[in-house]
This record gives sequence, structure tokens and C-alpha cells, in this order.
Amino acid sequence: MKRERMYINGGWVDSVRGAYLPVYDPSTEEVIAEVPDAGAQDVDGAVQAARAAFDNGDWSNTTAQERGRILFRLAERVRKESAMLAELEARNCGKPIVEAEYDIADAATCLEYYGGLATKVMGHVNPVPDNALSLSLREPMGVAGQIIPWNYPLLMAAWKLAPAIAAGCTCVLKPAEQTPLTVLEFAKWFCDAGLPRGVVNVVTGFGETVGAPIVQHPDVDKVAFTGSAAVGKQIMKMAADTVKRVTLELGGKSPNVFFADSDFEAAIDGALFAVFINQGEVCSAGSRILVERSIYPKFLEALAEKSKRIKLGPPLERETKMGPLVSKEQHERVCAYIEVGKKEAKLASGGGCPPSLQRGYYVEPTIFYDVDNNARIAREEIFGPVAAVIPFANEAEAIRIANDTPYGLAAAVWSRDIFKAFRVVKALRAGIVWVNHMQPTYVEAPWGGYKQSGFGRELGPWGIEEYLETKQVYINLNEQPIGWY
Ligand code: NDP
Repeated sequence: MKRERMYINGGWVDSVRGAYLPVYDPSTEEVIAEVPDAGAQDVDGAVQAARAAFDNGDWSNTTAQERGRILFRLAERVRKESAMLAELEARNCGKPIVEAEYDIADAATCLEYYGGLATKVMGHVNPVPDNALSLSLREPMGVAGQIIPWNYPLLMAAWKLAPAIAAGCTCVLKPAEQTPLTVLEFAKWFCDAGLPRGVVNVVTGFGETVGAPIVQHPDVDKVAFTGSAAVGKQIMKMAADTVKRVTLELGGKSPNVFFADSDFEAAIDGALFAVFINQGEVCSAGSRILVERSIYPKFLEALAEKSKRIKLGPPLERETKMGPLVSKEQHERVCAYIEVGKKEAKLASGGGCPPSLQRGYYVEPTIFYDVDNNARIAREEIFGPVAAVIPFANEAEAIRIANDTPYGLAAAVWSRDIFKAFRVVKALRAGIVWVNHMQPTYVEAPWGGYKQSGFGRELGPWGIEEYLETKQVYINLNEQPIGWY
């Protein structure tokens, strides 16, 4: 078993109190590593390092070209080591190796995208009605505290670090306690890539003992958080004391809406993919499957039948389509929701742990039907392989049910009628809406939620905006006194 250290101020360190926390392989339930179980003192050290790196001018004066090149070097390294990173990610999260390979490639693409964007941040000349020049300058926000979840560890780190580095911020990143390993591997290349010490710090540990001190620290200027709505709400409250800029990428209970005129085979595939990819541990999972009544029985039967063919198995086997859930706690949580579902609705398929996989936190792809939209399994984010199928009578009812949720991260609509599809797209209150697909995500396009799925946008040019302040500069061109007195 490997004992890892964390990366603060350009060095590899233990936590001040010398404690460690175990990291598991969820497919074997074995401990595969230990990482520092850090606390407020470690956070303070990391924030001071990030503050000094930002304030001492070396980093703030780095050219955008140089920051871009650092990101390209990091991307190159990620691509070179992608096999190692994908295997480590699959082992630590339980996700199928084939999906982990996509995640690592996407992380590299994100670093490259912001490497290019670093030199495209531009100010503005404001047309003021005076003999003056008024400018808007875009400046880095300062020290960014970044807190990420366990479902896409390295990818979420890239979504946070790449725009921050491109903007010229410094960072204190906390990976999720369950999945810190790929981020720590990534940090091993920071120095070689040219990141000065203190610019990016990685502090491992728990939300309450590392995450909260990051959010409360007076020297942190901005908090970028991805995680549950419950923790997001606490973060907003904690950040209020120091009026930090906050962006929140929270959970969802996203509707996947199927009209009778959609391509049937594609629809069945799309419904399964949208909810069972990454074991359903996806913020934008299409976990509410809304189906028009005229195709409801046929759709349900095909969905249940095909779901039984999804291959569960060890993450490192290439045929595996669903691995174990990330942890014992998550397994217990999802199984508890399945018991709730058995009381609230009818079970079409799954509903248990596969008997052939005794070890590991596996849960079968589970489909409930005739679900009332007020049922807990239709309202609460389960974050596991559990789908709630809900019938609807017509377009108006589909829209009403789809929007009847406190969340608003994502949605999808399936139809061959472009007029209907676009009417529904317009009516859906969600930050991302797909038509005839669900889940493709690109670094070039914005990502983020409506309603209680959070605010702020990641990716694309929107992502870097969240790390920039605007400074208005007025330059007087009159050489005479103002003449007021
Ligand atoms: P959590 O909200 O439990 O945790 C997210 C991160 O916040 C972890 O690093 C966690 O630490 C930390 N944290 C926990 N408590 C606090 C606290 N009091 N103060 C500061 N930080 C804290 O979410 P999960 O890790 O369980 O991830 C799943 C959630 O993430 C789902 O709701 C999902 O929808 C959402 N998500 C959203 C995405 C989006 O883009 N909108 C993308 C991916 C996931 P630790 O767990 O280590 O103790």
C-alpha cells in the first residue's frame, strides 16, 4: 500500500497533525493507498503559499503566453501517461476502464483548450462622452479555493485548474476524500511544467476539516465548488462572511423526455446510456425517464430487457459497462433508495446487488416505473444506477413534469418533430438541454445549472470569466485643471 503526501508550496508534505486517511478500491473493498488527513493548519499553509505566489508578482506578471504553455505541457504529460492515469482512476472510482480513458483524454483536452484561451482574454474600450479614455481591464481574481467531487476526479480538477491558471489565479484544490490519487499524480508534474511554487496546491482530507477552512479563509478570494446541493448551500453561507465570489456546480434530477415519434431503438439506448453511464454517478444523469403514454408499455419492456444485458464487472475489464459504486457509504445510500422505490413504485428490473459479485460495491441497473413525480425517487438525487420511469399524456404535461423539480442542471428531449422538440427545449428550465441524445459534454460549450443546480458556468470562454475581475480605468486626456472651484 502506498502512502502519499500532498502538494503545498511546491513541496510534498504530510499533514501537520500526521494523520492519514485510507483510499479504497471499491471493486475489492481493499485499501490501496493512504493520503494525508489534513486540517485547518494545512489549509492555512496552502492558502498562504497561494497568496504569496499571487501577491509577489512573479505569477501575476507571467505572460498569458507562458501560462498557456504551462497548460500545454501539463496536457502533453497527461496524454503521455494516460494509460497509467486511466487505470488508477478506474481502480480508485470503480468506473469502467474504457470510460476512464475518455475522462483522461477529456482532462488533457480541457488543459489544451485553456492553454489556447489564455492569450484570448481581452479588455474593452468604453465609449465615454468625455475627453478621456475609459478602459475595462480583465484581471485574475486572486486565490481560488476549489473543491471537487469523486465521480470524475481528474476531469473535475482540470475543469477547475485550467481556467484558473489561464486567468492568472493561484489555487488551493481539495479532491474528494475517496478519490485523491490521480490528482496527486498530476501534481507531480506541476514543477516540471513550469508552475512556480505556491501557484497550485493540493490539500487532501475531508470536507469539514479541509473544505470548510478553504471556504472560510479570509485570504481566499473565490470558491469554485462542484458537489451536492446540500453542501453547496453550506458553502454559500460560509462564503458570505468574507463576500467571496462563489460558483456552484451542484446536483440534478434531470428529465429525459421521450415522445412517441422518437426513433425507438435510439431512444432505448439513449435512455439507458443517460442514466447508467458511470454507474449513474453523474450530476446530469437522466434519472427521470418521461415517456409518452402511447409508447409507454413497449418502451418500458424494451428498456427493462436491454438493461439486463448491461455488463457489470471489475472496472479494469474492457467489456465492463458498469463497475462498483465509489464507496460503502454510497452503496448503502443507493440501496436505501432502492428500498424506498420498492414502496413508492413498481420495479421493472434490477433492484439488488448481483449475486456473482460478492465483493465490491456493485448495484444492478435498476428501473422503477409508474413513478409519481412527487415520489422521493423522482425528486431526490440518488447518484447511482436507479431510473424512475414516468408516463405523460401530451407535450404540456411532459413540460410540466420535467420542470417540476428543485433542480435545473440538464434535460433531454427525443422526437423527430423539430417544431415540437424546439418548443420543449425552450420551455425546459435547465442549463444544458440535449435533443436526441443525452450526456455529450464538450470543453467548448458552457456547463452549469438553473435553479438549485447552482450558478456560474464552467468550460468554454464562460469558464475563464469566473476567474476574472473587471477593472475600470479612466485616463484623463485634458491637460487643464478640472476648473470646478
Ligand atoms: P459532496 O457535496 O458530498 O462533496 C463534494 C466535495 O465537497 C467533496 O470534496 C467534499 O469533501 C466537500 N465537502 C463536503 N462537506 C463540505 C463542507 N462542509 N465544506 C466544504 N467542502 C465540503 O458531493 P459528492 O462528493 O458526494 O459528489 C456528488 C455530488 O456532486 C452530486 O450531488 C453531484 O450531482 C454533484 N456533481 C455535480 C456536477 C456538476 O457539474 N454540476 C459534476 C459532478 C458532481 P469529502 O467528501 O472529501 O469529505
